Amino acid sequence: MPNTLKQQAKRVTQVLFKTYPEATCALTHANPFQLAVATILSAQCTDERVNIVTKDLFKKYKTPRAFASAELAELEQDVKSTGFYHNKAKSIKGFAQAIVEEFRGQIPQDIDMLVKLPGIGRKTANVILGTGFGMPTGVVVDTHVQRLSQRLGLTEEEDAVKIERELMELLPEKEWIQFSHAMIWHGRQICIARKPKCSACPMQNFCPKVGVKGFE
Ligand code: SF4
Repeated sequence: MPNTLKQQAKRVTQVLFKTYPEATCALTHANPFQLAVATILSAQCTDERVNIVTKDLFKKYKTPRAFASAELAELEQDVKSTGFYHNKAKSIKGFAQAIVEEFRGQIPQDIDMLVKLPGIGRKTANVILGTGFGMPTGVVVDTHVQRLSQRLGLTEEEDAVKIERELMELLPEKEWIQFSHAMIWHGRQICIARKPKCSACPMQNFCPKVGVKGFE
């Protein structure tokens, strides 16, 4: 890993942590199981929409057991407005069944076990363990972290798993969780997908703006 890349990562984290000290997960949840459900629902959907849906969902289904024994067709209707509802309902029910039947209703705090469960990919597992349990098992690479890491010159990879591996080498483990939160906030507020607001960005002096065609 070239030193310059580590230096760039350090500059990025210094500015991000100073700019967004309060950055945290935007998905409303009261426990790691609810966070897992919300994260499954957040695929291709805004966090705002997910929070609207889970407000009623978590009142209706209060425990993993309640989700596990839900009628699939009814659960589909309950999550319909988040999109891809057939798959999402199936994943949530399957995940809840596995948690109840194999783990006595408790989420395993182990990434290798988690990624084997229905609906749980590496990104979701990192969210559950990082935000739900405070365990830095990896770097959450969602669409914002992916785009910003490329623009800031931290990676040339396209694949989320490869980007995560590079970021894990670049960043100290204790920064993995907060780095993702702050990158996501910056991606939503300043370094937006279509037209980043570079003139308002505190990283404009050292950002190579890789792949950026038009900006404000
Ligand atoms: S300077 Fe522009 S491209 Fe670079 S991080 Fe800031 S907003 Fe994004």
